[in-house]
Amino acid sequence: MSDRDGFIWHDGKLVPWRDATTHVLTHTLHYGMGVFEGVRAYKAAEGTAIFRLREHTERLFNSAHIFQMKMPYDKETIMEAHREVVRSNKLESCYIRPICFYGSEAMGIAATTLSTHVAIAAWPWGAYLGDEGMQKGIRVKTSSFTRHHVNVNMCRAKSVTTYANSILAHQEVANDGYDEALLLDVDGYVAEGAGENLFIVKKGRLYTPDLTSCLEGITRDSVITLAKEMGIEVIEKRITRDEIYCAEEAFFTGTAAEVTPIRELDQRQIGAGSRGPITTLLQQAFFDCVAGRHPNHTDWLDYV
Ligand code: PMP
Repeated sequence: MSDRDGFIWHDGKLVPWRDATTHVLTHTLHYGMGVFEGVRAYKAAEGTAIFRLREHTERLFNSAHIFQMKMPYDKETIMEAHREVVRSNKLESCYIRPICFYGSEAMGIAATTLSTHVAIAAWPWGAYLGDEGMQKGIRVKTSSFTRHHVNVNMCRAKSVTTYANSILAHQEVANDGYDEALLLDVDGYVAEGAGENLFIVKKGRLYTPDLTSCLEGITRDSVITLAKEMGIEVIEKRITRDEIYCAEEAFFTGTAAEVTPIRELDQRQIGAGSRGPITTLLQQAFFDCVAGRHPNHTDWLDYV
């Protein structure tokens, strides 16, 4: 990823891609405290637009606030930096990765006196769980690794720290040939995917785990909004893995994963074992939104 052409926004200015480097004693590299976002821009009706940029920026600032990390820029500057990165790299559609990390002034876990650095990069990135997965559904396995307890890591924050847990879970199931991992919370209820929120469909209703131990996904929110507009009842509650086994449909949501159907969990076929009708409707509505084709949600787009 480091050896390519283009520009990265680094501490207030665009720098050539290969020059966006940092010192090996960067605090975040050693102790794992940093916050970040995953954002996407799409080719939309009137040009390239970043999807729900304000909500992603709010979450980035909330993540920093939770960890008492000082943000050296205001929200408007960060939002404009996202647009600048997309424009300067001449990207029609892309994934955007802002990250805030501590500097290299000192070692030791005391972090509140350290400087915060901000970098924003963007690059083309297709379907995270594969084009075939988008059509036919993916195979998922419940990981033996548990999602963080709410007092071990902060679930409302999208922090670097969370992702060692996600990597362990994903590696474990990928080694067994599955596409993605499902993580349970400390009580054994479904939390989320390694990098996605989960939904199931039962008797025409949509269920998703409450927010106790999962990230408050922006795609999750978009899908809930779209479902309600279609007259589909949405219930947020504790979900067990066998409720997923017996569901009619299941899917993951996420900025990278978008709306990805799940056809199998732990070697149990879900529903017909393919993308279900409600998943298809919501997937379509989601892609209409990001492309500026959905009349109700053009305000979710931020043209660059
Ligand atoms: N949960 C986790 C652990 C994630 O990494 C992501 C991706 N950011 C999500 C859920 C989905 O969040 P969003 O829809 O905001 O991308």
